[in-house]
Amino acid sequence: MKIAVLSRGPKLYSTRRLVEAIEARGYEARVVDYLRCYMDIASNRPAVIYQGKRLENFDAIIPRIGASNTFYGTAVVRQFEMTGVFSVAESVAIQRSRDKLRSLQLLARAGIGLPVTGFAHSTKDIDGVIDMVNGAPLVIKLLEGTQGKGVVLAETRKAAESVIEAFRGLDANILVQEFIKEAGGSDIRAFVVGGRVVASMERQAAEGEFRSNVHQGGSTRSVRLRPEERALAVRAAKTMRLGVAGVDLMRSNHGPVVLEVNSSPGLEGIEGASGVDVAGQIIQFIEKTLVAKEGRVVRPVEG
Ligand code: ADP
Ligand code: MG
Repeated sequence: MKIAVLSRGPKLYSTRRLVEAIEARGYEARVVDYLRCYMDIASNRPAVIYQGKRLENFDAIIPRIGASNTFYGTAVVRQFEMTGVFSVAESVAIQRSRDKLRSLQLLARAGIGLPVTGFAHSTKDIDGVIDMVNGAPLVIKLLEGTQGKGVVLAETRKAAESVIEAFRGLDANILVQEFIKEAGGSDIRAFVVGGRVVASMERQAAEGEFRSNVHQGGSTRSVRLRPEERALAVRAAKTMRLGVAGVDLMRSNHGPVVLEVNSSPGLEGIEGASGVDVAGQIIQFIEKTLVAKEGRVVRPVEG
């Protein structure tokens, strides 16, 4: 079997671990910089071309598309899909996961617990959305932020009004969300592979910070999930149609709520905190999917 890891950084922890896990099973791994892939789109033999050669005979791809490259990255993933290659994350699922509004709408329809969240266009409706989330303190989020950038805590109604006005003045689209204060700056990452939570960790925000992102100084430790939290994470991944997903949850006083579902979840924090070989689980998921869905025989690459 031949698997391509679509990644811009061969030295990144997640990329290295995936390559290791592929090779440990005797398969062939190739790291492909998706921004250097170009495409033959309109021919009857659609192809992805890299370093002057068609990328052929791959059994699967593992997309690791950076948030700032979603557009081109998902075009490359889609092109692989056109050639019949199995992608661990489908291009549409990656796109969905990158838009917080679209994701929450889909999760809500599936009956998944979420923080109370509002969205508005006009600054004339600021009062309405603030009331909808039960007033300040509240959280304001840019639709396409990551790593905690673009997530703001407004402690008072006045602060909320001026931050919303400022963002809207810049034409930025934002979500207004109830602040889950009772979680005390911690949230949970549940790593779902093939319909199962294979690893989980708790992230705790640094002193004086409410965002638990590691990029904002958050720390990680292992955590045992309650059965309803596992079930919620699995349902969230399924709703987003992601075979591999990092589901972020918070323990609110109205039960566990999903914050977001990540389609290229990092491996470093989760493997470190949980001690689980998550990369290996992802490769096993590829094996199972190809065998089950396509009746394919997967075997180590010879020679
Ligand atoms: P990003 O995509 O930037 O990671 P998130 O929505 O995951 O955006 O928010 C970043 C962090 O901010 C979360 O991991 C959590 O610690 C904190 N946070 C987000 N939303 C809320 C909320 N409604 N209440 C309390 N904390 C929140
Ligand atoms: Mg997050």
